Amino acid sequence: MRKNEELREKLFYKPEHACKRMSDDEIKTADAFAEGYKKFMTDCKIEREVVEFAVDLASKNGYVAFDNKASYKAGDKVIYNNRGKSVIFAVIGKRNVEEGVRIAAAHIDSPRLDLKPNPLYEDAELALLKTHYYGGIKKYQWTAIPLALHGVIVKADGSSVKVNIGENAGDPKFVVTDLLPHLGAEQMKRTLSEGIKGEELNILIGSRPFKDDEESESVKLNIMNILFEKYGIVEADFLSAELELVPAFAADDIGFDRSLIGAYGHDDKCCAYPGLMAIMDCGTPEYTALTVLADKEEVGSEGNTGLNSAFLSYFICDLARMQGGVGSTALSNSRCLSADVNAGFDPTFPGVYERMNTAFVNKGIVVTKYTGSRGKSGTSDASAEFMGSVRRLFDDNGVVWQIGELGKVDEGGGGTVARYVAYHNIDVVDVGIPVLSMHAPYEVISKLDLYMAYKGFLAFFTK
Ligand code: MN
Ligand code: MN
Repeated sequence: MRKNEELREKLFYKPEHACKRMSDDEIKTADAFAEGYKKFMTDCKIEREVVEFAVDLASKNGYVAFDNKASYKAGDKVIYNNRGKSVIFAVIGKRNVEEGVRIAAAHIDSPRLDLKPNPLYEDAELALLKTHYYGGIKKYQWTAIPLALHGVIVKADGSSVKVNIGENAGDPKFVVTDLLPHLGAEQMKRTLSEGIKGEELNILIGSRPFKDDEESESVKLNIMNILFEKYGIVEADFLSAELELVPAFAADDIGFDRSLIGAYGHDDKCCAYPGLMAIMDCGTPEYTALTVLADKEEVGSEGNTGLNSAFLSYFICDLARMQGGVGSTALSNSRCLSADVNAGFDPTFPGVYERMNTAFVNKGIVVTKYTGSRGKSGTSDASAEFMGSVRRLFDDNGVVWQIGELGKVDEGGGGTVARYVAYHNIDVVDVGIPVLSMHAPYEVISKLDLYMAYKGFLAFFTK
């Protein structure tokens, strides 16, 4: 190697395609890991389904429901299921909890269309449902694609019905209709953000009237009759329901080389899944390990199942107290990887990214020192010291990683759960996976990046 090449190698920062840093065997392992992920993504579309899947998996791996009257020893594995919508998995470490815990935090809610509390109506002998979108979506993307209905209905007597329609072969699907281009001249003059308006996201659910009924709203009556016969519900039961419309797509390989995965809800289940798998595989760690899968991130982490709630800190304080320790000390000594997706560079829209500080698909797990917008507003901005320790951890353990900011300085921005974790005086930094078409009904990630997230969390728990 010539002197200048040697110096370049030694002195320049140059993130590379993960392929160049991985053995053929490891690439095979990553591809196999992606198969489990695809199945998970096809089966689990909403937060409740992720919690159910994760609790089931953990139970098979020796985890038991957390009991705050119990006391635990190194190697014990517990589940704190927060209302079926967020969940903490913990493996008790060899050291006292007061010395700090290691937390991988990801969110399991994704942008979607929620039903309004009183959604059902009939117009022009079509039955429709009114929706209120959840999270940041480009509304026009949600028309004319097959949708499935997921969630829960709590009936007047307190019993509840789980709903999942549109995912299995033979299931009916639902759809938001859009205007034909022939009559769309006026609509096409709208800005893209107004192309479809919130009140136009109405779900088509039926068109046949109740037999022998001459009154008005007989299509609606027929739909209610079907719902009553199938689920025993009446119209007022929608008032106490959480019903979510999500794309009825399965997760699939993308590309001739099958290097990418297309699916609904990579944000942020592509971090939740590796976080879950890493804690399943971490053995008995030195420090107590936690994976928290949180709800409500897409609407600001509000509510008692989001991370802007005390459920995570209460849990850590309980663990510390059981060992005669002090909760606030445990929190202050803790470290967290706030795992959330970042924007992957898209060559079709290069103008919004700043190439030197942008994440690229296939260059590994993204470490994001700060998020926020308009001058880092709303970020927790990880310290140089914590960045340094995460950098060493990943470099020493073969985790391919890169840095990434979300777009150009004044282009926009976004937030994650990191600030709510930092509130408890926990060291935290954002890590995640670069995504293409983030928040669209069908998002894209790389298999190698997904695997590097798993490898990164596992190193964080065990090294
Ligand atoms: Mn996210
Ligand atoms: Mn998001």
